[in-house]
Amino acid sequence: MPSIDVQQLRLDFPLLQRKTYNRQIVYFDNAATTQKPSKVIDITSEYYQKYNSNIHRGVHYLSEKMTEAYENARSTVQKFINAQHIHEVIFTSGTTDSINLVAFSFGEKFVHEGDEVIVSHMEHHSNIVPWQMLCERKKAVLKVIPMNPAGVLDLDALESLISPKTKIVSVAHISNSLGTINPIDKIIAIAHKHNVPVMIDGAQGIQHSIVDVQKLDCDFYAFSGHKIYGPTGIGVLYGKEKWLNEMPPYRGGGDMIKNVSFEKTVYADLPFKFEAGTTNFIGAIGLSTALKYLNQIGMDKIIAYEEELKLYAHRKLIAIPNLTFYGSSDKKAGIFSFLINKIHHFDTGLMLDKMDIAVRTGTHCTEPVMSFFGIQGTVRVSLSFYNTEDEIDYLVESINKVKQLFK
Ligand code: PLP
Repeated sequence: MPSIDVQQLRLDFPLLQRKTYNRQIVYFDNAATTQKPSKVIDITSEYYQKYNSNIHRGVHYLSEKMTEAYENARSTVQKFINAQHIHEVIFTSGTTDSINLVAFSFGEKFVHEGDEVIVSHMEHHSNIVPWQMLCERKKAVLKVIPMNPAGVLDLDALESLISPKTKIVSVAHISNSLGTINPIDKIIAIAHKHNVPVMIDGAQGIQHSIVDVQKLDCDFYAFSGHKIYGPTGIGVLYGKEKWLNEMPPYRGGGDMIKNVSFEKTVYADLPFKFEAGTTNFIGAIGLSTALKYLNQIGMDKIIAYEEELKLYAHRKLIAIPNLTFYGSSDKKAGIFSFLINKIHHFDTGLMLDKMDIAVRTGTHCTEPVMSFFGIQGTVRVSLSFYNTEDEIDYLVESINKVKQLFK
């Protein structure tokens, strides 16, 4: 029995109702971006029509309304992730921006020549390149937690990688190309035993789990609005107050200052110190609307349904002969990366597209993962709570057609 009424919920998503070529679209590219419920689309339009005005700088009606809505959005995010303080929630443009903020700002203050930063082998480029840039700038060393062929991180190796020179560990909550749900609680415990802070890239974690940053005890958690049914161009960095207070600003400009003179500028308190310039304030309201929408359905129900759907998809997909899967951890989200025989992933993707199925093909911005398996890319099917067993049956039928066509 499904824990949610999927057919009813699908009606909330206008894009899911459209046809691409011949039939209603089957959207399996949710790890790249999720579709938006009408509530998010409507509130964005409503705010542009009725309240648009820059925040924090005006005394007039519109500016006050907009500022209030923006700060309420921050409070919604705080509750969603159970942050202790509202000022620990920084609005950014997305996960990439959040990680760059920490890599630059934390790195500026705490990482020096010869120090070490640890990431894992399965990271998205967004959680590799900013740290590499930092290491290059500071002459520090990037170390990598290895993974096994199932796509599971070696935590014993993490223990031995950590040294007195390790300044931060940054890992994905859920791998976007393998689907592995990393044991972030254990990773955090290991790192904290050595007094090393941990950043979690939650781009794929936040929409498929209940994230309680206090319980997790992570030092930073980053996510993107567009991957959790919110708008593009808005994201979140959660950081523990003790770190954020010590970190220098990442960007300078308006709104991040208390006062400015040519002799000296005094920076604003949290969270504004990290929100220079005009932020995507209507995006923040869209994001908070998405989070409220999910709360209304119930994250526990969403997770239970997604688990059922993942098991169904797993059973159906592994029964197809000649598919090779990448990522077979026991703890996996609804992300399936595979190749059919020797068919190029682009060809599979293009053929599925003509059958009205949207999947992603390529490296998924995880080239080190592809190199590990000695492949150029995969076909990736990533599920959301609005997907159905019927859609999976249609995918299986379509994969079999692709196989026939390439015979
Ligand atoms: N980290 C992971 C694990 C991702 O899957 C992605 C996007 O796919 C990102 C980071 C980057 O997210 P964004 O492009 O929204 O900043």
